Amino acid sequence: MSVASKLNLYIDGSWLFKACAPERALASRLEFPDRALRLNFSNLVGLLLRHVREHGGACDTAGDAYLVTSIFRIPDDVDQWAEERDDVTTADIENVRHSVAAREAFVASALRSGFREDGVYRPHLKGWMIQRLRERRFQEKQVDTTVVALLVSAAITRPQDYHVIVTGDADVLPAIKVAYPAYSQNVFVATTHPDQLRAEARQTSFALADFEYRIPPVFLDEHVRDLVEGAHVYVCGHCGKVFARSLPIPLEAKPCCKPCHDKRT
Ligand SMILES: [Zn+2]
Repeated sequence: MSVASKLNLYIDGSWLFKACAPERALASRLEFPDRALRLNFSNLVGLLLRHVREHGGACDTAGDAYLVTSIFRIPDDVDQWAEERDDVTTADIENVRHSVAAREAFVASALRSGFREDGVYRPHLKGWMIQRLRERRFQEKQVDTTVVALLVSAAITRPQDYHVIVTGDADVLPAIKVAYPAYSQNVFVATTHPDQLRAEARQTSFALADFEYRIPPVFLDEHVRDLVEGAHVYVCGHCGKVFARSLPIPLEAKPCCKPCHDKRT
């Protein structure tokens, strides 16, 4: 008797959060690409389970689901930093609060869909970090290595299961290959198509193509319709962008996004 297999998920949450941000890979498929995509994590799990089955895997339930990311703990005296430090402004503090709140909402949404909280780090925000955050030079530690470590330890102990890594960083793949040589049988990647204008991204697509999988990579930007939060989600019949409405569009009407509708009237 064969044991029913599960799909375990390991998400680089810092990468996925950015992929959902305005104008980035996933939000750029939306009606209003200048707004962040609100990701429905249950739909993401469903999409990845369907992908396994479409490629011959007998698997219809999720196992362990990790969202690995970090969210700053903001100290109580943070508002005084702008007065105390030359390298911190009140606008900086405002921006940090805003981005922490956005990440909190993202993580809370994942937890409601059954993701585990123990992949979420909560480092203390320090004054010296602010300038680096403003200049986008702040390096988040641990996320990519944690995702790999969780996946490999599960793959070794549960080889009958499937394991998906959700990441934009193909650099993690050689590590998986070394630690778990049987990866091609039951490990696969979910990512987005790389931005061909960025040299580092071209390398990513090369690295992905370099690997053999029984289950091919999932490109999430091709499935935005299935990922976005909303009761009634449509693809615009004119421009192909995705949009959600609280009320259904009548069946006989061709779905039309707001920008296309405004152009045509
Ligand atoms: Zn449109």
